[in-house]
Amino acid sequence: MLKFHFYSINRKIIMANRNEQLFERAKKIIPGGVNSPVRAFGSVGGVPRFIKKAQGAYVWDENGQRYIDYVGSWGPAIVGHAHPEVIEAVREAALDGLSFGAPTEAEIVIAEAIAQIMPSVERLRLVSSGTEATMSAIRLARGYTGRDKIVKFEGCYHGHSDSLLVKAGSGLLTFANPSSAGVPADFTQHTIVLPYNDVGSLKTCFEQLGEQIACVILEPIAGNMNLVKPSQEFVHTLRQITTQHGSVLIYDEVMTGFRVALGGAQSVHGITPDLTTMGKVIGGGMPLAAFGGKKEIMDCISPLGAVYQAGTLSGNPVAVAAGLKTLEIIQRTGFYEHLTARTEQLANGINQAAKQAGITFTADSIGGMFGFYFADHAPQNYSDMAASNIAAFKTFFHGLLERGVALGPSAYEASFMSAAHTAELVDETIAMAAEVFAQMA
Ligand SMILES: *Cc1c(COP(=O)(O)O)cnc(C)c1O
Repeated sequence: MLKFHFYSINRKIIMANRNEQLFERAKKIIPGGVNSPVRAFGSVGGVPRFIKKAQGAYVWDENGQRYIDYVGSWGPAIVGHAHPEVIEAVREAALDGLSFGAPTEAEIVIAEAIAQIMPSVERLRLVSSGTEATMSAIRLARGYTGRDKIVKFEGCYHGHSDSLLVKAGSGLLTFANPSSAGVPADFTQHTIVLPYNDVGSLKTCFEQLGEQIACVILEPIAGNMNLVKPSQEFVHTLRQITTQHGSVLIYDEVMTGFRVALGGAQSVHGITPDLTTMGKVIGGGMPLAAFGGKKEIMDCISPLGAVYQAGTLSGNPVAVAAGLKTLEIIQRTGFYEHLTARTEQLANGINQAAKQAGITFTADSIGGMFGFYFADHAPQNYSDMAASNIAAFKTFFHGLLERGVALGPSAYEASFMSAAHTAELVDETIAMAAEVFAQMA
């Protein structure tokens, strides 16, 4: 459906077609028109916005339409888009060459910086995507323990490596089924999928299979089934039960690292995981990710140990420069206080607006991350989230998009605040949300 009625002059009417034109053209050469599925707007309907540029808290689409952006490239843009200091660091690094395939000093500097922020990280290796980080951490956990089985939780996303593209089997401890075509069932028979926040099933699983479990991987604060927080009992049981059975506890902090707090979810929980995976924020918008943790485990990696792992562009100097500058900015005084205050302002304001309009709605947040749910409570796990009013989210999403606010195009995604979002911009967002709620009521 073309929506012409917002535009009063002819030039803009022609321009208004540009996202649609590009989407049609993209679909002829790129499957589904996108290079990562959620971008296609499949779960909210409509035409994805093709982004032309971004600055601070804003993105602009190819029609020249501006949006207050709460996607932030799915997390990396924590200091705001195109931060001048990050851009300058990237420019400087690029002038010295884009990639060497040999070690550099900057890789040591960023590894030391990360280890200082996250004390659980005694050794660290850089990779280029979160998928690579989690895939490598799982292989490492298997190599270290000599065990094959892994445990993950329903609704947690850990990238798209074969053993993690799984959905729950028919019974609690039956092995998982592939959630994607092309993944042999043989690969996923070693993966067990449990419900998030469910201490009982975790205990049952370890009672029956504990000595075979190489690792448990989780989003320690989930952001890929919208925002779902774990209970303290859940995370402490996890730490205790994995230690007891000699299984590796992997905190997948690709999203939460440097996002929910400087030290990630592990600093919020007061938990020391055995391995941590990182991505998103640490690259500041460039392809950079990492996995790290206990020396004893990390030293099993090639060339020291027998677990193979490698990458042509791992530790890429331009990506590392962007990451280092981003890490420097987020460690400045008051960074997280400011970020958290804006997120809470937004969550509280939108909660209140929904209440006034009589809409069943809950907003929750932590650090620079927030979730909107059309439900009377914040969800505890995937099926709880799936029971929220997904249709209402779609209406809300498009109502905000038309008014110039971009959320992630799915009810199952968390959203992200940046340091460039001012109190005024957040108030503007709340006012627009109030308009949408009034229409929905
Ligand atoms: C985004 C994400 C990944 C995958 O990272 P990519 O860089 O997209 O491969 C893994 N785990 C979590 C928790 C994520 O949010």
